[in-house]
Amino acid sequence: MIPLFKPHIDAATIAAATEALELGWLGMGSFVKEFEDRLARFLELPPDRALVAVNTCTSAIHLSLRAASVGPGDEVLTPALNNAGDFQAIELCGASPVFVDVREEDLMLDPESVERMMGPRVRALIALDYAGFPCDLSPIREITAARGIALIEDAAHAIGTRRAGRMIGADADWTCFSFDAIKTLTCIDGGAIVAPPGDMGEELRAARLLGMTQSSDVLYSNRRAGSYDIPAPGYRYHLANLHGAIGLSQLDLLPTFIANRRSYAESYSRLLGDVAGIVTPLPSTRDVSLFAYVIRVLGGQREALRAHLAEIGIETGVHWLPGNRFTRWRSVRGAEGLRVTDRIGDEIMTLPLWSFMDEDTVERVASGVSSFFGSLVS
Ligand SMILES: *Cc1c(COP(=O)(O)O)cnc(C)c1O
Repeated sequence: MIPLFKPHIDAATIAAATEALELGWLGMGSFVKEFEDRLARFLELPPDRALVAVNTCTSAIHLSLRAASVGPGDEVLTPALNNAGDFQAIELCGASPVFVDVREEDLMLDPESVERMMGPRVRALIALDYAGFPCDLSPIREITAARGIALIEDAAHAIGTRRAGRMIGADADWTCFSFDAIKTLTCIDGGAIVAPPGDMGEELRAARLLGMTQSSDVLYSNRRAGSYDIPAPGYRYHLANLHGAIGLSQLDLLPTFIANRRSYAESYSRLLGDVAGIVTPLPSTRDVSLFAYVIRVLGGQREALRAHLAEIGIETGVHWLPGNRFTRWRSVRGAEGLRVTDRIGDEIMTLPLWSFMDEDTVERVASGVSSFFGSLVS
């Protein structure tokens, strides 16, 4: 079976995990601090942008929304084509997700739909870098700036992607990353928030540790704080040392992960570009860190193609079922009339992509796809 995702766990990652376990300080500690520092450097963050590691991207989105003062009765705009974690994080604040449509050409936020769904209760907007491509932020930023609402970039797919030459991380007010089990860089579970310019670091560092304000330097050097205060709500969202150590070992290989994935994606596009019946993703992968290779299957054939591929040992996925198809969000504002989302929701299909595939595997998958259409016409 060719799996859809396959995390790269090598001897270095296992050694890093062993070292963290043998250290005996299992909570938040020195490896987390080092992971934050190295990640901030990798992302080329300006010094006025704090990066805070947390246990998941869902937590990162939740803390960003909270820090942006999203609360009960508020609304948050998000593409319906997004991870359910974002919708749940919005609801954790007591707010409601409002669904916005995507553009057909890149499956990312449609600024016209954003304008249409804007309303007096909207406090924030989440923009997603789908599959790892950079979303077109400038028209979106104009809207959020004019209305004074927070712009949160969900960059869970886009670690290492550049937008107009600039590493994604400091373009929106808030940027959130995921390092969960299947993401390009994994901590097994993990996430990070990049805060707006200014001094938000302390507030976020407290919020991830039950609201405890204490000197981070103490924990960062694997010691317990002598005393602390709790002035505000907080959560159990910190990253543990083990996960920080695993993330650090993965960071060493991240440039290779990114280059490999891009090359496999380019092979897919070369091999599949002429297959009638599918649409391949945007041709240019320059500066893109690809998390997923998503094609669109036309003519109502997606499920038949998925069954065909499963039969010949190729796993595929759907990222994602749009939010308005889940019971929980069927009737939120914006759930109806999502012209593009409702159509592409039946067409999108994710092909296997990992950091160390090989060209043979890419070719096997591609010929599995084209053989399906070959057999359909014959
Ligand atoms: C994976 C993912 C999340 C959730 O990340 P976790 O770390 O699993 O909480 C959120 N948004 C997007 C776009 C994702 O792909």
